[in-house]
Amino acid sequence: MNALEKEAVSARVQAAWAVLEQVQDPEIPVISLCDLGVVREVRESGALLEVVLTPTYSGCPATEVIAHDVKTALEAAQLGPVATVLQRAPAWTTDWISAKGKAALREYGIAPPGPVPLADAQPICITRRRQPPVPCPRCESTRTERIAPFGSTPCKALYRCLSCHEPFEHFKPI
Ligand SMILES: [Zn+2]
Repeated sequence: MNALEKEAVSARVQAAWAVLEQVQDPEIPVISLCDLGVVREVRESGALLEVVLTPTYSGCPATEVIAHDVKTALEAAQLGPVATVLQRAPAWTTDWISAKGKAALREYGIAPPGPVPLADAQPICITRRRQPPVPCPRCESTRTERIAPFGSTPCKALYRCLSCHEPFEHFKPI
């Protein structure tokens, strides 16, 4: 491949990334799939544009919708033919949500996940660790309590703020 061809390849891939930046998560329509960390890679395989997707929570019913939305958006931008590839390992982690994505979640009223606690390589703590408080996305108070382990989707827990009394969802770190 000569330099000119290489440039043409990356232009199509770059255009695809620009389109994908605009494709929102079907469940949280304020965050793009790129900011959510679901789009892992865009590559060309012959004439085919391949988009590698790592679904958030396994069994998340939104996965099919996401693959469909990605394909539709890229084909509408005439960057097709497009194939989506599901890649489940390494597993998606909330650490892949970009800073911009976390800010968007907060504005939307969902408390974004903190960093994933305790990496596998670290020694196991015998004492029970206290979970850091989840601040209220509306008033930022840390006087909050968890009222249910699951919210509208399995990836979120339901909390209530003891200061402003508003319930809110917290995107659980995994
Ligand atoms: Zn509050």
